[in-house]
Amino acid sequence: MKEQDCLRRFLFEELGVRGEWLRLEASWQKAKQYQKLSVGVQEKLGHALASAVLLSATIKYDGSMILQAQGNGDLKALVAQATHDRKIRVLARADENMASGSLSEMMGEGRLVITVEPDQGEPYQGIVSLEGDSLADVITRYFVQSEQLETRVWLFATETQVAGLFLQALPAQENDEADWERISALANTVTEQEMLTLDCEEMLFRLFNEEKVRVFEPEPVTFECGCSTKKIEKTLISLGKNELNSIFLERELIEVDCDFCGKQYTFDKVDVDNLLSGDPIEKLSPTRH
Ligand SMILES: [Zn+2]
Repeated sequence: MKEQDCLRRFLFEELGVRGEWLRLEASWQKAKQYQKLSVGVQEKLGHALASAVLLSATIKYDGSMILQAQGNGDLKALVAQATHDRKIRVLARADENMASGSLSEMMGEGRLVITVEPDQGEPYQGIVSLEGDSLADVITRYFVQSEQLETRVWLFATETQVAGLFLQALPAQENDEADWERISALANTVTEQEMLTLDCEEMLFRLFNEEKVRVFEPEPVTFECGCSTKKIEKTLISLGKNELNSIFLERELIEVDCDFCGKQYTFDKVDVDNLLSGDPIEKLSPTRH
């Protein structure tokens, strides 16, 4: 069976270079099923998702890696999130008939915000402009600007699959520039066909058969939104009492749909009054449409 829906790390121990291989199928298809997206938008969203999962494996504590691209083009926004235990979700804002094109053709001018959100502690954000033909270019530039770690990513996405390859020179080592150049040049020969069909070890052998590579066990990747009644409540409270009361002048229920997973949350006036007074609300289990 083909190796799918997992991330695998690998290491060139003698060269001070680490890598990651990723391929998603069912998790990708589940993650995007709640949105109507053109083929071109799906490709860009798949690239964002691959990046988020690859980068999530570089954070050293529990939390989330969130990529948000925003532009002034017809593809207005891409959001991809991956947690430390590889739970993923995605969101795109674009016309459902949007044509395919390069990243800049589709998104125009804008920026990519990369947020590391630890479960405990303050989030950290990095920002890079969306210049470049592809998200891989943007990610590479981000690492050059922010961490000065030599990093390269290769991203692939179709309607059914997402794949990615990541290489990074390890910090605080006597890295040989020639080793890095050789490894990244070899990696750069990878094709979409190989990434979408070969399993991790087959592909590493094809690319790096003269190098010593240590490959780690697969880490499963699954679609799981992570939205909750508590998080929606927080958003409602942040609207303020006046705003909430004015909504109830026009309707009996506040309905909030999660854009990532389609789950619907419903609050009546009593729920919201309790929320504002700080009392716990009963019967808060989310209902699906
Ligand atoms: Zn959700």
